[in-house]
Amino acid sequence: MSNDSETVSKVLWAELFPAELIKRQQQCPIVYMPLGLCEPHGQISAFGLDTFKAEYLCTRVARQVGGIVAPSMNYHVHESGPSAKFLEANVGEHNPYMSSVPPYVFYHFFLYQLRSFYNAGFQSAVILSGHGGAHVHDLRKISRMFQEQTGMNIWYGTDFDLVEGTYTGDHAGKYEISMLMHIRPDLIDPSKKALEELDGAGGRLAAALDADEATRAYGELICDACELALSRIVTELGLQSEPATNRLPLSYGVVEGLWSQIVSSAESGTEHWAALQPREGQAPVSEQSRWKPYEYIRMQTNL
Ligand SMILES: [Zn+2]
Repeated sequence: MSNDSETVSKVLWAELFPAELIKRQQQCPIVYMPLGLCEPHGQISAFGLDTFKAEYLCTRVARQVGGIVAPSMNYHVHESGPSAKFLEANVGEHNPYMSSVPPYVFYHFFLYQLRSFYNAGFQSAVILSGHGGAHVHDLRKISRMFQEQTGMNIWYGTDFDLVEGTYTGDHAGKYEISMLMHIRPDLIDPSKKALEELDGAGGRLAAALDADEATRAYGELICDACELALSRIVTELGLQSEPATNRLPLSYGVVEGLWSQIVSSAESGTEHWAALQPREGQAPVSEQSRWKPYEYIRMQTNL
C-alpha cells in the first residue's frame, strides 16, 4: 500500500482531510471495509495474511473506481462452531496467536460499523473479508437486515467469492501464500518449510499441503482476477448510488433493535446462524482439546 507516486490518490478515510473526503464521497459514495485477523498461516507466513489481501484489493479498486476505504477490522470470528474442529485438526493444541473474537461480539460491533458508514453519508458499503468460514453466511444475513432497515446497499463477500470457478481458495495453501507473495513478498519466508512439524518449531500451524507450490506469479494472477471482479461489483453499486443529502443519523436504538432480533432468532431457532455450532455431519472436537469450549456457543454475552 505504498504511495510511491504523487499522482496516486489518497483513499484511506484515516488519511483524508474533511474537504478531500467530501469531494471523493460526492464523486463516488461508496465505502470499503477490509476484514481480516491475525491467525496462523503456517511457519512461512506472517499472521495478517487475510487482512493484507482485503486491504490490498479495497485500496486498489478505490483508486481505480472511486470510493473511500474505512479502517480495517483486524479482529474476526474464528474458533466457534465449525472452526473449532478445523483448528483442532490444523493447529492442534499449539498457541494459535490469533486475534479472534466471539460471533456475538463481532456481529454486534459490525452493526455499529455499518451505522458509522450510514451516518457518514455513504450510499453503498463493500465489505471484503480475506477470512472465510461459517461467519460469511451470518454476516451476509446481517448485512441484508441492515440494508432492508436503512436502504444503504451492502455487498459482503470474500476474495474467494470474487474468483470462484477460476481459482480455488484455500487456507495458507498455494492460493493464499501466492497472494501474499505478490502483495507483500517481505511477509513470506521461503527459507522456512511450510509443512514443518518438528517439535519445538510450533507445528504446521494451519499451512495447507500445497503451500510449497506457491509462486509470486500465480499470486499476481489471482490478485488481478480478484481486482477485476471487485471493480465490476463496485461499478454496479455506484450506478445505484445517489448522493446522501440531509440524511438523518441512525441512533443506537436502531442498531439495538436489529441486534435484539438477531439474538432472539438465535435463541428461538427461527433463524440459522452458522458460526454457533458445527456443520451438519462434522466430527466432534475431542474432549481434551483447547477448542472444545467453542464448539457450541450462544448469541449472547452471558453464556
Ligand atoms: Zn487466510
